[in-house]
Amino acid sequence: MIKKLIRKILGVRSAEQTPREPVILKAKEHGIDRSLVSPNAIRVTQTLQEAGFQAFIVGGAVRDLLTGVKPKDFDIATNATPEQVKRLFRRAFIIGRRFQIVHVMFGQELLEVTTFRGASNGQVQKDAHGRVLSDNHFGEQHEDAARRDFTVNAMYYDPASETVLDYHNGISDIRRKTLRIIGVPEARFREDPVRMLRVVRFAAKLQFSIDQSTRAPIAVMAPLINNVPAARLFDEMLKLLTSGHAMACLQQLRSEGLHHGTLPLLDVVLEQPMGEKFVKLALSNTDERVRQGKTVSPSFLFASLLWHQVLEKWEAYKAAGEFPIPALHQAADDVLMAQTDALAIQRRIASDMRDIWAMQPRFEKRAGKAPYKMLEHQRLRAGYDFLLLRCESGELDPALGEWWTGFMHGDNAERERLIQQKLRLPAHSAGGADAKSGAARKRKPRKRGPRRTGTGNNES
Ligand code: ATP
Ligand code: MG
Repeated sequence: MIKKLIRKILGVRSAEQTPREPVILKAKEHGIDRSLVSPNAIRVTQTLQEAGFQAFIVGGAVRDLLTGVKPKDFDIATNATPEQVKRLFRRAFIIGRRFQIVHVMFGQELLEVTTFRGASNGQVQKDAHGRVLSDNHFGEQHEDAARRDFTVNAMYYDPASETVLDYHNGISDIRRKTLRIIGVPEARFREDPVRMLRVVRFAAKLQFSIDQSTRAPIAVMAPLINNVPAARLFDEMLKLLTSGHAMACLQQLRSEGLHHGTLPLLDVVLEQPMGEKFVKLALSNTDERVRQGKTVSPSFLFASLLWHQVLEKWEAYKAAGEFPIPALHQAADDVLMAQTDALAIQRRIASDMRDIWAMQPRFEKRAGKAPYKMLEHQRLRAGYDFLLLRCESGELDPALGEWWTGFMHGDNAERERLIQQKLRLPAHSAGGADAKSGAARKRKPRKRGPRRTGTGNNES
């Protein structure tokens, strides 16, 4: 009763209360620019419709089209079953076990075709915290709409009739630039805590505000993110970091109270004063690449985000008397271990991150054959980009980066000249692992325990 009253005051409607009939918007009302729609998405909906099924473009693509943005991918929703979909396309693959979806391929383009999902029948499997574990059955379109996360993500576009079907007032939220969860916010976040991260990502990406009643429970419910399987969190973090608005996303996570204690990665990234410049540079480079349509390497990204933590631990191990190279490997192990529990960084990505870090001291050896050996390194480009980032952030003397730029691009004569130059750079403040200081340490290992150094993020 009280809950009902509060909802009435806040204007929150539960999914069940939402009208089943959609508002239907014609072309001149929604104003979608058809040239932004993938011809292959139109082909898929058309083929399904010609076979007698309902088929729509749905979700993020409709939201993006309504805001005039070219969608990066297109999802299709239909009342055809996965088997029925598969039969209609030459390159179609049924994916997933519990809830099957169909991947339809046209050249490089992948379209995800999903059968309308049904409403929860009350017998859903949940974990001890109320997170829905499996609730997968087919249903009607209005049920499918009610199960989607935000009103702006629950619209269906039919390219044939150029109409948009809107079940949850998504269009008015698009116009108000508001993200509003469908149904009762607490319940929807409890069912799937990842929605808290999604709302933040969309708010930063679309520059929308979060409706007050959607926003209110987030700070309190944030710890539920701890129960989400690590692999799913990793996917979501990757989406967030490669959204083209990574920095804005991280700032928004902080302002929603979602960073603290929820993911160790975010604690590290957002609360390390010394590494802040480095992280900001890495993220703004990433954002720039995404906006230019270039690929982003997850391993480079995660290696950057965690670098200052590695540096801090590396220094500590060296200060405790460890040789520079094993000290770096131990530091990398520690940092990766701490992240893996919560975030399940995939093994392949972790190994690439380790490579990027391990190459760093090798860039400081510029005598004899060492630099030539580096040229053969499989991941030279990533390691070198990482080195440039370190220079740009002020961690290293920029002359070191310039030397390598010259060496990598120069002919043999130029390379020899650079080696002969015997350029002596001042030892940098962090991680100084040039051969000389390494040798000095070998002779006189310190007996003291690990100590924090000037590079550390001791205030975090
Ligand atoms: P993006 O631009 O990041 O692809 P998107 O909205 O398309 O944004 P997807 O993860 O591709 O996001 O999901 C497609 C659609 O599926 C969403 O628009 C939403 O309708 C629905 N959806 C995705 N994740 C959830 C979720 N956790 N809870 C409810 N609905 C979801
Ligand atoms: Mg999408």
